[in-house]
Amino acid sequence: MESINVLIIEDKKEDLVFLEKILKSSGYKVWSASRGEEGIKLAKSVSFTAVITELHMPRMNGVDITRALLRVNPQISIVVITAYTFISSAIEAMEEGAYGYVTKPFNSSEIRIVLERAIERFFLLSSDKKKEKFAELSVRDGLTGVYNRRFLKMYIDNRISLVERTSERFSLLMVDIDYFKKYNDTKGHLAGDQLLKKMCEIFKEAIRQEDVIFRYGGEEFIIFLAHTGKDGAVLVAERIRTVVNLYMPTTVSLGVGTFPDDGKDFEKIVAKVDAALYNAKDMGRNKVSVV
Ligand code: GH3
Ligand code: MG
Ligand code: MG
Repeated sequence: MESINVLIIEDKKEDLVFLEKILKSSGYKVWSASRGEEGIKLAKSVSFTAVITELHMPRMNGVDITRALLRVNPQISIVVITAYTFISSAIEAMEEGAYGYVTKPFNSSEIRIVLERAIERFFLLSSDKKKEKFAELSVRDGLTGVYNRRFLKMYIDNRISLVERTSERFSLLMVDIDYFKKYNDTKGHLAGDQLLKKMCEIFKEAIRQEDVIFRYGGEEFIIFLAHTGKDGAVLVAERIRTVVNLYMPTTVSLGVGTFPDDGKDFEKIVAKVDAALYNAKDMGRNKVSVV
């Protein structure tokens, strides 16, 4: 599979390692350089979609790097890294053509979202063919904005590799809308689409910032619950079920599974939550089930 090339220019080893981890788990092909000159040289031979660069470095700083990179490729999306107290130099880089900035201390959600937007911008500026490629490589679902199925496996595999030698757990919920076909048939497909979007808003309200929603199929979602064992996951599932009951015109059924208790790899754990969901449907729907 083709990949999106992202370059990190960062002279602090610790920060570099942190950024590499986040960007790799977002599914990008990650390159790194510890000095501006090195990064620019690399950009002449590798075609980068986005570059994330430290602003404050000896010799060549982020503003110089921005200028030089844009000479190599005017379309490249550049994100600069700055401390809260130095926003003015980030703005200077943006005046030179950088796309945006992220602040230190790092916030992984901020980095992910700014990078995603930067990459999206790169492809939007591109030819139709490249736009198609973006849609293909995109990690988001076009209708609801949550992550797509393509990204799910990549994400879960990565999380497993991060926690497998620790005692940490995480759980997955599989959520399926009850009798959704009937809802579409009576209210129309557009109303069905609206309902899918609203469902995702409700899920977001019910989970924590670290948790992640994926659209698994038409009206099926998987929710990743970080640092959550079985009991905690059942609580979240019941919360979602209850809120949907209160505010939505349809109900949902949920299956719950926990890593590593219910499976040590992606396929096994998803098979388990799928079986649990099937069980919830079998029990009459509008239920939470654990296998
Ligand atoms: P169950 O309670 O067993 O889950 O019944 P169901 O009708 O929800 O399940 P089924 O799998 O038979 O139907 C799923 C329906 O979801 C089929 C299709 O009409 C609808 N659907 C899938 N994707 C979309 C979408 O993107 N938009 C809309 N509006 N409907 C969708
Ligand atoms: Mg279904
Ligand atoms: Mg359904």
